[in-house]
Amino acid sequence: MDFDVVVIGGGVGGLAAALRSAQLGKEVALIEKDRVGGECINRACIPSKTLIDAVKILSKTKNSPWIDTNGKINYEKLNEYKGKIINSLRENFIKNLNKFNVKIINGIGKIKSSNEIQVNNETIVSDKMVIATGSSPISLPDFPLNDRNVLDPWSAMNLPELPQSIIIVGGGVAGVELATLFRALGKDITILELMPQLLPGFDKDIANETKKRLEEKGINIFLNAKSKVIENKDKVRFSVNLPTSSETIEGDLAVITIGRKANNDNLGLNNANVDVDQRGYIKVDNRAMTSNHKIYAVGDCAGIPLSATKAWRQGIVAGDNIGGKDNFMPKYIPISIFADLEIGLIGKTLDEAKKTGIEAREIKVDMSSIPRAWTVNEIEGFLKLVIDNDGKILGAHMIGEGATEIINTIALAMENNLTMKDIYRVTFSHPTLTEVLSEASQRYYYGEIY
Ligand SMILES: Cc1cc2nc3c(=O)[nH]c(=O)nc-3n(C[C@H](O)[C@H](O)[C@H](O)COP(=O)(O)OP(=O)(O)OC[C@H]3O[C@@H](n4cnc5c(N)ncnc54)[C@H](O)[C@@H]3O)c2cc1C
Repeated sequence: MDFDVVVIGGGVGGLAAALRSAQLGKEVALIEKDRVGGECINRACIPSKTLIDAVKILSKTKNSPWIDTNGKINYEKLNEYKGKIINSLRENFIKNLNKFNVKIINGIGKIKSSNEIQVNNETIVSDKMVIATGSSPISLPDFPLNDRNVLDPWSAMNLPELPQSIIIVGGGVAGVELATLFRALGKDITILELMPQLLPGFDKDIANETKKRLEEKGINIFLNAKSKVIENKDKVRFSVNLPTSSETIEGDLAVITIGRKANNDNLGLNNANVDVDQRGYIKVDNRAMTSNHKIYAVGDCAGIPLSATKAWRQGIVAGDNIGGKDNFMPKYIPISIFADLEIGLIGKTLDEAKKTGIEAREIKVDMSSIPRAWTVNEIEGFLKLVIDNDGKILGAHMIGEGATEIINTIALAMENNLTMKDIYRVTFSHPTLTEVLSEASQRYYYGEIY
């Protein structure tokens, strides 16, 4: 046996599995065909949030007339900073892999059997395997990517200079975040979304509030828009069919964010009887184990939610189980959206709870009730909690300043089955944005106090 564990793919899912199993004493190899860190560190979460955080500082300054400044973003310098962060985080991971004696193999891994992997024309033998190959942007014939003016999100974020008018196809998480970023940089933005709702699949009130906010910032949003690239020479032109009209829309650049698919083709899954579902994602149980009990799968290649949040957790769960420590996926995985107004989501909406026959009600607290929201000059948004008859939180849907942080506190409560009574007993520091949760528990029992 060459190794106890071989991990294929060095994104956050693969890194978590490799580091955790190595920490538990296993001899581990990590095969990566490109750069350690995968999408999240190199091309997605970290670079996009670096850019979004920078433009948010600028937007905040502009919305604060008492700050006397003509702040402007130096995009070249910001991109340099982005590169620095990516490199630092990647190097930290490599340092930790070295600390735990994880062997990094640069190459494309292919499964030959339950315990054999081919890489760089060699076969390595391993007791356990973790598949962590991630996902890639979907490309469709209606939106042919061309490396020039019809681009995927990463290529667009990595342009040294952005053109003036940008059309974003897809109003999901990536589309909304990119629209926030590019608009704050002063670009003319249009979003084309096929579904009747921005942020399809998410809570309707959150989606509507986000749409309102983006439109107030000057972003054009077309819903129910069946679009297609009809020309991509100097300009990109789209035909857009709407429910009652058709239009032609033109921009300098189109960014396509219509979805992603698992990187499971040509991986040799059949050679080890690893089953996939009808969408091509590897089927796993709540220990991240596949249909072959020597093989685990984590992150995007193992299905929704496609998020680094889930990938990292699933990697830890796989690492624990491989290392002999029982561990299971949590019941709840929070989702954060770094839109113009932040969004944090977890668990069920009220409609979903009712559909499953659970009696539940909703408590809503507007952010304008929370003193800290005033001091940070961002009073829009709200927190909605879905609560069952025993006072247990079934879901939380928040839009507003701090939502991407506050959702973690709610995740802590939900994962530990805390009730509103438990939350009511806790003292929240003042003035903080998390007081919105405290106020929700107050309202649940006694009504509004703020
Ligand atoms: C623009 C954008 C912003 C995002 N922002 C967020 C965010 O803020 N928060 C969040 O939680 N999620 C975010 N995501 C999602 C997140 O990036 C992914 O869910 C996450 O990176 C998935 O991690 P992973 O380890 O499963 O796969 P990946 O990060 O895709 O890593 C897979 C790795 O496997 C390697 N690989 C593939 N096949 C092979 C092979 N055969 N042999 C060797 N190596 C191979 C690849 O090169 C890659 O490095 C964002 C996504 C996008 C597109």
